[in-house]
Amino acid sequence: MESPLQEYLDELIDRLRPLDDGEVNQATLSAAEPHRDHVGITLTTVNGNQYSAGDCQVPFAIQSISKAFTYGLALDDLGAERVVEKVDVEPSGDPFNEISLQPDGRPDNPMINAGAIATVGLIKGRGGRDRMGRLLNTYNEAAAGSASTGELKVSDQIYKAEDRTGHRNRALAWLLRSFDIIESDPEPVVQDYFRACSVMLTVEQLSMMAATLANRGVNPATGHRVFSPSTTSRLLAVMSTCGMYDDAGNWAIEVGLPAKSGVGGGLLVVIPGQVGIAVYSPPLDEHGTSVRGSAAVKQLTADLGLHYGDAP
Ligand code: GLU
Repeated sequence: MESPLQEYLDELIDRLRPLDDGEVNQATLSAAEPHRDHVGITLTTVNGNQYSAGDCQVPFAIQSISKAFTYGLALDDLGAERVVEKVDVEPSGDPFNEISLQPDGRPDNPMINAGAIATVGLIKGRGGRDRMGRLLNTYNEAAAGSASTGELKVSDQIYKAEDRTGHRNRALAWLLRSFDIIESDPEPVVQDYFRACSVMLTVEQLSMMAATLANRGVNPATGHRVFSPSTTSRLLAVMSTCGMYDDAGNWAIEVGLPAKSGVGGGLLVVIPGQVGIAVYSPPLDEHGTSVRGSAAVKQLTADLGLHYGDAP
């Protein structure tokens, strides 16, 4: 017999499909299969059980959701004190691509592009892997064991589109170099940022990544520790305040859970200690958040009473 949760998710997806607002991101449009009708949701419990409905095995680009996992790797590599010397943890309330640098050149937080590019610059090759190999390995460790098999990989097509059109991101990297926030040649750093944004995954894999964060940094399917507990806690705090860019305040009121959006149409939400949620649907609102993704999470939060303000 189908579980009540499964039935609920199937109905939720049926309700969301007709919602046809928003624009699909250009880099996404240049890649295979970005269908504006696609919508999928997966919930993964901290026991590793997955419940999915809709288009859950369609690959899409992780885009800015990668920033959260990149930040986690930098924190584990260097420790919070050294990372904050280069990237602060204050919400900017600005759009994702805003310059938002402090007078000393530090980006406000690691979730906006400037902060994410600076964070990529902090990660070095190690143990036989170069920087991008280590980033990809971290994303894969967090995503492993989902119902979608296959490894996360960079889409060359999306990477090329990001590289061709990413003038502002390239400018940000050079500006960060001028402040010595990036201490090496900024070009390879911004290239790896583009690659990190171009990693392809399914909503089932993204949900396992969310569940890894919900489970204090341990992938619930494989039992592998991806991030230390202190890194995970800092990451969730930064996602709560900065993950939704210039929509963060409104999101705190309506959802009240740590989240990260990406212009590929993915949305990752964490219920710490319980569940990782991921939604995928390509059309985006003016903040670069999936329209159906945001509607799904708001509905779910209301129906299941997940907002911290609703705690009994
Ligand atoms: N690749 C996009 C950029 O750097 C990511 C933006 C996003 O997903 O919010 O502009």
